Amino acid sequence: MRVLKLLLPTAILLSLVGGGPAGHQVRAQTRFRSIAATTFSDLRTWDTTVDRMKRDDLLRARRTVDDPMLPGRTHERLEQFYQGVRVFGGDIARQTDGGLTVSIFGTVYDGIDLDVRPALSIEEVEAIVERRSGVAIGPGRVPELVILPEDSGGHRLTYRVKAFTLQEGIEYFVDAKSGAIVLELIGAERQAPTATIARGQGVLGDDKKMSVSSQSGTFVASDMLRPPALFTYDARGDVNRVLNFLNGRIALVASDLASNSSTTWSDPVPVDGHAYIGDTYDYYYKRHGRRGLDNNNIAIRAIVHPVRRSDLSPSTSTEIIGLFYVNAFYAGDGVIVMGEGLPPGFFTLPFRQSWNFLAAALDVIGHELSHGVTEFSSNLIYRNESGALNEAFSDIMGTAIEFFYQPVGGGVMQADYAIGEDVVTPGGIRSMSNPGMFGDPDHYSRRFTGTSDNGGVHTNATIGGQAYYLAIEGGTNRTSGLSVQGVGTANREQMEKVFYRAFTQLMPSNATYSVARAVTIQAARDLYGAGSAPERAVTQAWTAVGVN
Ligand SMILES: [Zn+2]
Repeated sequence: MRVLKLLLPTAILLSLVGGGPAGHQVRAQTRFRSIAATTFSDLRTWDTTVDRMKRDDLLRARRTVDDPMLPGRTHERLEQFYQGVRVFGGDIARQTDGGLTVSIFGTVYDGIDLDVRPALSIEEVEAIVERRSGVAIGPGRVPELVILPEDSGGHRLTYRVKAFTLQEGIEYFVDAKSGAIVLELIGAERQAPTATIARGQGVLGDDKKMSVSSQSGTFVASDMLRPPALFTYDARGDVNRVLNFLNGRIALVASDLASNSSTTWSDPVPVDGHAYIGDTYDYYYKRHGRRGLDNNNIAIRAIVHPVRRSDLSPSTSTEIIGLFYVNAFYAGDGVIVMGEGLPPGFFTLPFRQSWNFLAAALDVIGHELSHGVTEFSSNLIYRNESGALNEAFSDIMGTAIEFFYQPVGGGVMQADYAIGEDVVTPGGIRSMSNPGMFGDPDHYSRRFTGTSDNGGVHTNATIGGQAYYLAIEGGTNRTSGLSVQGVGTANREQMEKVFYRAFTQLMPSNATYSVARAVTIQAARDLYGAGSAPERAVTQAWTAVGVN
């Protein structure tokens, strides 16, 4: 199974797991160079380096696109190669203006020393995938050799192969030496019923519309009105079926869709889940012109009721509770799982909070689906600082979506800077305005440096969240005492655009907080000009949270 992007670390479940923060740990790391060039001298150096690497066939152009917002600007994406084999995660984004370089961001892996001759033949790889998928691979689908950098510092030679059944497409990564399948990605599913609008009440009692389809005498949560297919599946508490699906062992089919015999929906959970994935799609399109998670209208598939509250018992494992009850997660390739919450009377510690259905939290759904936007753009690696940035972007966009649809305020279904506050009560799980409320850092000097939670990706996300909050609202950082002149709530759209542009177009996959500062400042300059209020606000905000 892929790495799951949990909403929160499981350490706070039901009981407070003991032990203070781990100290500094020396970790083996893949050797790489992180590039964030925006000054004249850095740009000259890196322009030369990039052009030399292109000549030496260490970098190849993947695509060059004209800027959708700024005429004359062009974005060039280059991918790293080693002895003719693509290096996964090695990439550079170069922005030019009338031929002059404006910014270069990226990651280049060093020290690759690998025999790029695969031990397996193409036919053997196809046979492995055919055995797993039950589908014969035709001649039009040639497996691609790619190098996967590993956390240990090593590199793995793999084959990437796609296989399609009638229901879906799966992408396999096969170790080119041993034949082991090391990664499976699940693609899109299609069908063709009739579009209808249904109505229902959400979990919190509000009236909603949802886009559904009629199918053999019943109605199913399949949205045929928006450009991509949006499906909401009701797993009916069959957690093993969910796990088999997430592990690529089975496909979800039409009978798995949430259904109702009339257009007045009775179960509020798929009503919320289905409406909110549609809202999230619409936000990205209306605000940023983005067509879905991959900007190419990939299907979004939500799963509700992965478990049943009534099945919760003393023998339920903490993993099942942490994954499927008090959690929501993005599983890759457009798949989101919305947790069940806890029965009334159950709480999590240390804040003694109750948990409603996660589908009822617009910011949580926006957060999880934004992991999909990241997956298909910057692809920020899910560990250490790049992982914290991955989480921060999801918190920022989840919050932006909340402000897009809901009135500002502290009540239920009102927009604020807390995460998940409508379902995790009281207070939610994180705060961008006051991260310390939950023991999370509001300043880089307070960052978690241990190894748990992939290097504190959820904890350290609030450093970026606080910077975003200050850049809009202004105010003083509690740790540094430094104050920020924000762009103001009337201009929050500016900061949404700055962070969206920075994280989806300029950000490399292995970025640090320092790189995040540089790319957001660059994005503010690109959109609003050097010396503009948004550039000043975002610069002051990063300085206030200790990121330089
Ligand atoms: Zn997350």
